[in-house]
Amino acid sequence: MLDRSIKEKIPSYVHVLFDTLAAAGHRGYLVGGSLRDLLRGVAPHDYDMTTDASPDEMLEIFADFRVIPTGLKHGTLTVLSEGHPIEITTHRCDGEYLDARRPESVTFTRRLADDLARRDFTVNAMAWNEQEGLVDLFGGREDLQSGIIRAVGDPATRFSEDALRILRAFRFSAQLDFEIEPGTLAAARERREGLARISVERIFGELTRLLEAPAASRGLSALLDADCGELVFFDCLPDRGAIKAIEGLAPDAALRLSLLLLHESPLRLHALAKRWHASNAFCDALAGVVEAAREPLPATLYHARRFVVRYWPCWERALALRAAFGEQVEEAFVLSRTVVRDKTAVELRRLAVNGRELQDALGIRPECTGELLARLQDLVWQKPERNKKSVLLGLAVELCREHPTFLKYKE
Ligand code: ATP
Ligand code: MG
Repeated sequence: MLDRSIKEKIPSYVHVLFDTLAAAGHRGYLVGGSLRDLLRGVAPHDYDMTTDASPDEMLEIFADFRVIPTGLKHGTLTVLSEGHPIEITTHRCDGEYLDARRPESVTFTRRLADDLARRDFTVNAMAWNEQEGLVDLFGGREDLQSGIIRAVGDPATRFSEDALRILRAFRFSAQLDFEIEPGTLAAARERREGLARISVERIFGELTRLLEAPAASRGLSALLDADCGELVFFDCLPDRGAIKAIEGLAPDAALRLSLLLLHESPLRLHALAKRWHASNAFCDALAGVVEAAREPLPATLYHARRFVVRYWPCWERALALRAAFGEQVEEAFVLSRTVVRDKTAVELRRLAVNGRELQDALGIRPECTGELLARLQDLVWQKPERNKKSVLLGLAVELCREHPTFLKYKE
């Protein structure tokens, strides 16, 4: 892409910030993912800038703007321009890294070259502004054209400084469908132990983005080729044979993981997701989809009600997974959608009586309440119109006649 067309692609609210910096005698540059995406013809999801102005100077320069000084210690000011938040960071060179993750200190610099040298990959280490055009000190543009993820500088050093970069390499490979340059991949393998010191949240964050990317199988294969599997998945390693198939599924991390880890038990998968500090919803989805994959497909409305309620809210993903294995799921889909649309399944998750009411009204033994509720639930799945308190109490009386041991006192 010509530099002129970069200028045309940048929205006016970003140009305003370039102009404001220039009017104060400073320079701003577009950097990072936004420039990378513009150069490959994709609309950036946000714009990042870097500047030679110090954090204090930025506060003065942008005094007329609404600003959020959240990252100011690290040189980052978020400026709201026409309602859009733009992060502007003073050129930095990072200090020494002691924990394989965060530099001990950051040093601000007036030199753009230092700032670009601290960045992770060549395709992420370019800068652009109108006056200077593209500043590409590490061959980022060529790597972008050839589809290569290459570390800036010596890859082993860069990965030992910050092991998260190892996962970022796999993630960008998956998002951009790029190859990881052999030297960079070899260094990732060599320095992989650093990942043990990265927080599980960050590992899971990168993994999620990788899995939801268009070329997820490429990034994941690279991760496993670099022997990082156990550092990311612990003792639940993905099935290599299933990797290619994940791109046939919707870009949903829980769904794609369930395909990769289908050989694991739901219990172990729940524990794995907990270990990643994933949300409860994610833990339940991963375990639930795998569990549902082992159930018979619902073939009647009654079974669809049971299925949808049991695996709510991930019943749809469970069916999608089975479709990926070539099962005929259309009928099960139609039935399940019908019960969701009728609300017969969703509302049936809530029975119109509860255990206490059964105990108080009928004298049910507390230890039998669960079983009685389950039987009532089943009767309601057969005929949803039964889900009324008076009807259910009547049915409970009948069930107690069949099972007198449910009652505290004999009739
Ligand atoms: P996207 O936002 O699309 O995921 P990005 O390239 O913008 O991709 P960010 O995490 O937003 O990625 O980071 C912005 C830029 O900061 C990167 O392009 C890179 O230049 C630099 N960067 C981010 N994280 C690191 C890191 N761990 N080590 C070195 N440089 C990094
Ligand atoms: Mg970004």
